[in-house]
Amino acid sequence: MSNISKNKDFSSHLWDSSELYRDAVTQLESATKTMNLDPNLTERLRVPKRAMIVTVPVRMDDGSVKCFEGFRVQHNITLGPAKGGIRFHHDVNLSEVAGLAMLMSFKCSLVGLPLGGGKGGIRVDATQLSRAEHQALIRRYTMEIINIIGPEKDIPAPDVGTNAQTMAWMMDTYSMAKGYPVPGVVTGKPVDVGGSLGRAESTGRGVVYTTEHAMKYLEKKGKSKLKMDSSTTVAVQGFGNVGSIAAYDYWQKGMKVVAVSDVSGGIYNKNGLDIGKVMEYLALNRVLAGFPGSEPITNADLLELNVDVLTPAAMEGAITSKNVKNIKAKIIAEGANGPVSPEAMNELEDCGVFIIPDVLCNAGGVIVSYFEWVQGLQQFFWSEEEVNQKLADVLESAFNKVVALKEQYKCGMKTAALISAVDRMSKAMLLRGLFP
Ligand code: NAD
Repeated sequence: MSNISKNKDFSSHLWDSSELYRDAVTQLESATKTMNLDPNLTERLRVPKRAMIVTVPVRMDDGSVKCFEGFRVQHNITLGPAKGGIRFHHDVNLSEVAGLAMLMSFKCSLVGLPLGGGKGGIRVDATQLSRAEHQALIRRYTMEIINIIGPEKDIPAPDVGTNAQTMAWMMDTYSMAKGYPVPGVVTGKPVDVGGSLGRAESTGRGVVYTTEHAMKYLEKKGKSKLKMDSSTTVAVQGFGNVGSIAAYDYWQKGMKVVAVSDVSGGIYNKNGLDIGKVMEYLALNRVLAGFPGSEPITNADLLELNVDVLTPAAMEGAITSKNVKNIKAKIIAEGANGPVSPEAMNELEDCGVFIIPDVLCNAGGVIVSYFEWVQGLQQFFWSEEEVNQKLADVLESAFNKVVALKEQYKCGMKTAALISAVDRMSKAMLLRGLFP
């Protein structure tokens, strides 16, 4: 058996148990094959650099002690410190976190940041935690992984089930351990403790910017006449950090957002929902169900609506070979990470659906996270207009780069995005060489 095939057996045993990881590797391999990359570089990119598994014991409100599984994975740090969110989800596992860390490496590279890719997760249902339990969990997790995080090493951020408050507690725990304030250890913090203006909205905002670029591109190519106005219908799956802001910004631009959903189901109005009022309703009622003037819709049906733009912004694996034949949207803006499986993506692109891939579509979050990190290191803060303008510039140039590669290689958008990302990473890897 050759060394390469031995390594493959080993890595598949350790990492390959989740669909998300396998999908990320499939997409990586499709890109590296298309660009004819040296297989030795692909070999290094298909596995993470380092992972830490920790047990996080927490005293619950009822006095009992529960142990939670926690993970932090750094996929590739050739370009800079690892960067990526912390996910609280009852199903998260090492393989999923590794796949998400890989996507972060590609995302940071694609948009030109001096950062690598990382991700963290704790296997817990965040909705069942009290505020005190959530705080205890994140503080103990931070201490468990403290040796591998830091402003020059690995900088966490929020993801599914975590938020700005979670990041404030992480930053405080790290700072307590060091003995001085270290705002640059996390991003996505509240503005009052060194967060950046515009960070909370940045991912959803980026989804809408890239949708606008997609429409302009399709019009230039004579493929569609979709506009950011009331003639264009939108459905958004997931109404959290990403989905709610994307829905709000689509609506603010005048588009007709006919359906939105959360984990418990969705709401639909064929004439369009008032997303400002939906947000107020959710803040008061904690669920979307029952929003006045709407009909209930399941998450499955929402994905299959006859809309112009579909934004899956909840979890991975929303569109797979099981439901791909029923998808009718003309543009799919991947707000979530990995919501469209590779097979479904090929099928949709063959049918002329334009897909804005996750690494481009939801990169707004990590771009403004990078701005937050830079502002924190300099202790010099920018206005929201400045943040938004810089975000728009970075996304526009990344979008243009991806469509140029798509045309050059005659491939899909995801492959083109990964070619761009891998090209930058592999040049840096070759220049740095293989230690020792
Ligand atoms: P969140 O926890 O704030 O919101 C998730 C939303 O999806 C909630 O409305 C939840 O009810 C809903 N949801 C969860 N499971 C669902 C299911 N099975 N079906 C339908 N809806 C479901 O999370 P978020 O930060 O908005 O992240 C959403 C996605 O975007 C994830 O894939 C995440 O990795 C990705 N992402 C987030 C950011 C960020 O800045 N927060 C950046 C890039 C990518």
